[in-house]
Amino acid sequence: MDIAELINHPELLLLVLAPLFFVCILLEWYLGDRRQKLPVSARYHAKEVLCNFSLAAMHQGADILAGLLIAKLYLAVFGWKLFDIQMGPFTFVLLMVAQDFCYYWFHRASHRIRWMWAAHVVHHSSENMNFSTAFRQSLMYPFAGMWVFWLPLVILGFDPNWVVFVVLLNLGLQFFVHTQAVRKLGPLEWLFNTPSHHRVHHGRNPQYIDKNYAGILIIWDKLFGTFVPEDETVIYGITKPVNSFNPLKVTFSEWRDMFSDVTTKGLSLSKRLGILFAPPASHQKDD
Ligand SMILES: [Zn+2]
Ligand SMILES: [Zn+2]
Repeated sequence: MDIAELINHPELLLLVLAPLFFVCILLEWYLGDRRQKLPVSARYHAKEVLCNFSLAAMHQGADILAGLLIAKLYLAVFGWKLFDIQMGPFTFVLLMVAQDFCYYWFHRASHRIRWMWAAHVVHHSSENMNFSTAFRQSLMYPFAGMWVFWLPLVILGFDPNWVVFVVLLNLGLQFFVHTQAVRKLGPLEWLFNTPSHHRVHHGRNPQYIDKNYAGILIIWDKLFGTFVPEDETVIYGITKPVNSFNPLKVTFSEWRDMFSDVTTKGLSLSKRLGILFAPPASHQKDD
């Protein structure tokens, strides 16, 4: 498959990368489960891995379906583009950096707005950390409004197919930061999101909560005050555990809790809006 074909069908990118993902998973499983060289929280548990893979398949399916609608919207908005941007090596790097900046704000909003957290919590609800954790994605992202965060790129004048390609490339590259097999990467730690930085992001130690939102570049966290280096051993998961390997329960439990809270009798409108859009209680430091 050549690059032009991939740009026209960006949804195939993760499938193209799949063999590489599986080699990494096998190596990590061998190091952790067979050779016992990794922490216990890096081990593979059949029920959880099956849940993680099911979540990935559900996410991919929802993305393809929602993508049909979102592609129409992006094309309409593309009609009002501000600049005529021709794709080449320079504009490709520019698009990757711009999308990574938008990703930082999407990810930060996903932690600080309960409506978006209801989708993103799926990614955080495992108490283990290995490559299969990267597969924990929610089919509810299109409903939660993820696509809004890439609209500025389309309005700027980046071709919608390229935008979607770069969104998925960013997601695909993030697979590689979900591991405990890599400790620190020297000078790369200054500029890039690394396994060490991302382990912090998955921590529920109080000092690690809502930190290191980076996708590819860690500079955004350093610029906007959300960077914390890995120091204390990370305890993985969330403060309100989901305690299930059922992908449907994992996907919908926070939506169910949120809608049950918002429909509580006798609440004022501002309280109800607060339940939907204020930071989630399950992810606050004082919880
Ligand atoms: Zn997150
Ligand atoms: Zn992650």
